[in-house]
Amino acid sequence: MTQVGEMIRQMYINGKWVEAKSGKTFKVINPATGETVAELPDGGAEDARLAINTAHEAFKSWSRVSPVERSRSLEKAFKLMTERRDELAKLITLENGKPFEEAKKEVAFGAGYFDWFAGEARRVYGDVIPSPAGSRRFWMIRQPVGVVAAITPWNFPATMITRKIAPALAAGCTVVLKPAEQTPLTALAITKILHDVGLPPGVLNVVTTLYPEEIGKEFLRNPLVRKIGFTGSTEVGKLLMRGAADQLKRVSFELGGNAPFIIFEDADFDAAVDGAVGMKYLRVAGQSCICANRIYVQESIAERFTKAYVEKVKGIKVGHGFEPGVVIGPLINKDTLEKVDRLVQDAVKKGAKVATGGGRLKEAAFAKGYFYAPTVLTNVTEEMGVTREEIFGPVAPILTFRTEGEVIERANNTNYGLASYVFTKDLGRVFRITEALEYGLVGVNDAAGYGHETPFGGFKESGLGREGGKQGIEEYTEAKSIVVNLPQ
Ligand code: NAP
Repeated sequence: MTQVGEMIRQMYINGKWVEAKSGKTFKVINPATGETVAELPDGGAEDARLAINTAHEAFKSWSRVSPVERSRSLEKAFKLMTERRDELAKLITLENGKPFEEAKKEVAFGAGYFDWFAGEARRVYGDVIPSPAGSRRFWMIRQPVGVVAAITPWNFPATMITRKIAPALAAGCTVVLKPAEQTPLTALAITKILHDVGLPPGVLNVVTTLYPEEIGKEFLRNPLVRKIGFTGSTEVGKLLMRGAADQLKRVSFELGGNAPFIIFEDADFDAAVDGAVGMKYLRVAGQSCICANRIYVQESIAERFTKAYVEKVKGIKVGHGFEPGVVIGPLINKDTLEKVDRLVQDAVKKGAKVATGGGRLKEAAFAKGYFYAPTVLTNVTEEMGVTREEIFGPVAPILTFRTEGEVIERANNTNYGLASYVFTKDLGRVFRITEALEYGLVGVNDAAGYGHETPFGGFKESGLGREGGKQGIEEYTEAKSIVVNLPQ
């Protein structure tokens, strides 16, 4: 099961598989076992420069390829990625740790962005604008921004890439991608798909590295890069935004979150329990930007909810991603494991109670990986770091509330604004609360997240711009107004 047929171990520049100019390499580690999965080129500024120059050259022709032809390339990529689903999912489980079944779902969802933007490539509409003067005509067209530098995280190694490169390529942009150092193999396997469907050389380039700052600096200072598309932490997003200011590069950022999951006493109880389990634990072991970070339960049902919730959480199977029945794998690395534990211990010190879990899993099967027990905390307050910081792990803090007004205020009391969830059957409340929550996504009686068709992105410090939906492709275009004075 863990044998992967074709594993690419080189970067991709100008349609060729290459080593780093320096000849250096770095190791990709399996977080479930600590074993080395592969060694990859450790690219630097020189490699990034070469990739940017190549993308700039390729832009001259790719931006003029007809939208129908660009659409066809993306359709083929969708089909091939769907065919290679299991092969890609194996790579994800190996380098990211998420269970194989979950990885297969991610690949299918990630491929869906090729499908969606294959359609959108043909719908980059402009406007004909009525002019106030009879002798003049106005219209607006959308054109691709140019070379895009894309930087992606490890938690969704396939989707975070396709959600950026599909709209960029559809719009006529060319791309230099820097995937996360933990999950470059999935990125290279997706690149191979685009290579195999005949994407012209230079349209997509990939630079792998252990030192993201160096590549990031080249992206920022190189004037040929017109846009930075970044998914990752708010901290790095801010750093990139400061750097992009010098040349006023276009940016779109998908950053961190602190999602409230609000359950009212009139909710469908079982659906709320299942939703809160799924949105906390069953997405990369809680390492997702839209995972429930604070569970608010109305006081009258809090005891019943906690009992049912803890019962379900105790039944969750943790283990290596290829083991049948496993639904939670390891955390990505030691730093993440230590951060999660620090938040739990801090909460306990401040009065929280551990209802289940509460520490690292140390039994023999888990000893070499970064496994944390699925944890539920009660007696939690907003003074604890566990409710203020993004946990990024399988830890659910339960808080109680009395009124709708109170919970809205508490839910909004954060610098983040990515995802939020509400379980209620009261229709009036659905309207009031969806309008009041300061979040880019509000799930009502739904804990499945977003779709390809919906724009996704954050309020406040959770991001800038939107990915997916019809808005996703606009982020890779400039609007150009054309004014014509007709000869008299
Ligand atoms: P991260 O540390 O910000 O890293 C994200 C990417 O940025 C990686 O490719 C990383 O490279 C690179 N990077 C780090 N420092 C850089 C620098 N100075 N210059 C240029 N690139 C740099 O975030 P992470 O820990 O991997 O991912 C978790 C975070 O991503 C969480 O906050 C999560 O909420 C957020 N996220 C948001 C969304 C969303 O859609 N809003 C989706 C997924 C994740 P290395 O891998 O080499 O460090």
